[in-house]
Amino acid sequence: MSNKSNTQKTIPSPSAARGKGTVCIQGGYTPKVGEPRILPIFQSTTYKYDDLDQVERLFALRETGYKYTRTGNPTLAAFEAKITELEGGTGAVALASGQAANLLAIMNITSAGEHIVAASTIYGGTYTLLDRTLRRYGIETTFVEPEISAKELQAAFRPNTRLVLAETIGNPGLGILDFDKFAAAARRNDVPFIVDNTLATPILCNPFKLGANLITHSATKYIDGHATSLGGVVIDGGNYNWANGKFPDLTEPDVTYAGTRYVEKFGRTAYIAKARAQYLRDFGACLSPVNAFLFNLGLETLHLRMTRHSENALTLAEFLSRHPQVNWVVYPGLKGNPQRARIKKYFLQPQGSGILTFGIKGGARAARAFVKNLRVAALVVHIGDARTSVLHPGTSTHAQLNARQQRSAGITPDMIRVSVGIEDAADLVGDFAQALGKAR
Ligand SMILES: *Cc1c(COP(=O)(O)O)cnc(C)c1O
Repeated sequence: MSNKSNTQKTIPSPSAARGKGTVCIQGGYTPKVGEPRILPIFQSTTYKYDDLDQVERLFALRETGYKYTRTGNPTLAAFEAKITELEGGTGAVALASGQAANLLAIMNITSAGEHIVAASTIYGGTYTLLDRTLRRYGIETTFVEPEISAKELQAAFRPNTRLVLAETIGNPGLGILDFDKFAAAARRNDVPFIVDNTLATPILCNPFKLGANLITHSATKYIDGHATSLGGVVIDGGNYNWANGKFPDLTEPDVTYAGTRYVEKFGRTAYIAKARAQYLRDFGACLSPVNAFLFNLGLETLHLRMTRHSENALTLAEFLSRHPQVNWVVYPGLKGNPQRARIKKYFLQPQGSGILTFGIKGGARAARAFVKNLRVAALVVHIGDARTSVLHPGTSTHAQLNARQQRSAGITPDMIRVSVGIEDAADLVGDFAQALGKAR
């Protein structure tokens, strides 16, 4: 679509579906005559009504509209509509953080006594949510190494399994998900497939086209893109049959909303309607309107930034892979990386996002000196920012693990993770070169 036509400099032919760049800029909000050109921040908790009947209809879900900002707000709705169009879904619900997004995505369709199959390489916070917290509430998870065979993956499923969860790009391992294998397993066992698409974003990958039924994002990362705000979002592909008997909460009456049956009433947006009505109400992890405004602004340049993040990451990865003080480099788009075939198969662009890892000769001691001497990049516990950030996982995000656990999580003492920003690539290469020089 527009991504290709931009890079190939050909004259694009008009098409029915808008290009990603146009949606990034104009999606979600279309002002009428005389209205603000820019999405307004509706900094209001409440909405005014004239008569009791209308409020009664709103509380029975017989009429759509805003009641109270905990369950919906016009600025949030614009952000939700834009990310829905970018991912090709039927609806979305914005949340206070990526953690809240994954929590709600799971809680909306699981109860005590049920079971989840999840890739073992998922984000640390999601891992502990499943492995520690949800177990305490009776929801069990079987973690699977994502490169296991289809047969081994099938063996992880149980009759009470209710969902499969994986990430497009694992962090910090940077493996690209085998969508075909995971989607086939979800289909065979008739459970929904949730994909956390945070690191790829809809610019690089559209999981709904690859068999996903629900997508989650930490909007905190590339969607924001400027390290200003925490937030998350869950998007429904509208492509799962919730009326298969496994999800009675979606088909049976909800007594808290005048007996609403979500699938019957909302069809392909039933999942989102239920998540909003029940769990924004009960958990209250709503996004603030100001943060939704900033995410909308971030999305306006996502298509440009993702390309630049990826190009800079490739340049830096190539530089590092030739450097004598570097033990190894992992970047999915780097020549010789076995993940390149998956990028070709599943991604919309030939790059592999802005995250890379490398091993520095001299281990943790050299890593310390390297990080201290960086001038352009900075030591930051974050990814997806316009500014280049580095982190030493062994002494930060994974410090609580012992040496053996670190090894099995793929963390080595020499590992440095880089979230490559959108500065000039030459300045990044120069900065890394001088800092490596001082880390000998
Ligand atoms: C950061 C991150 C999360 C958690 O998001 P927060 O916004 O920090 O709560 C979840 N999944 C992935 C892949 C992440 O990178």
